[in-house]
Amino acid sequence: MKYDENNIFAKILRGEIPCKKIYENDYILSFYDINPQKKIHALVIPKGKYINLDDFITNASSNEMTGLLKGINTVAKMLKISVDTGKGYRALANIGEDGGQEVPHLHFHLFGGETVGKMVS
Ligand code: AMP
Repeated sequence: MKYDENNIFAKILRGEIPCKKIYENDYILSFYDINPQKKIHALVIPKGKYINLDDFITNASSNEMTGLLKGINTVAKMLKISVDTGKGYRALANIGEDGGQEVPHLHFHLFGGETVGKMVS
């Protein structure tokens, strides 16, 4: 499967579509989900062109992998939902068709600010 250059997150990364930015560094961009499912619903995406988590784990560099994981923690701290700054959160990645992935650019959802509830429905 080839990376779709016109997916919505690719357009956000290129600055063609606005987003409600939370944080950005060399490796990741984080912004609020346009259709929040919880009080806090942030997205964290790698800047590299990776379709999903499998693609990322197979093809990303060690620095990109570290950057994404540290980025999730940085954003959780900024939003005061990490276990040291708040009451915790759920990090979730939908992968592929059965995983319910809609946007074909790897992203982690961070849900928090309230009890997140049942893991899978
Ligand atoms: P997924 O089903 O895991 O691929 O999730 C895609 C997510 O992207 C959904 O939660 C959407 O609400 C969100 N989304 C789609 N377009 C935008 C956008 N322009 N800005 C922020 N979030 C978006």
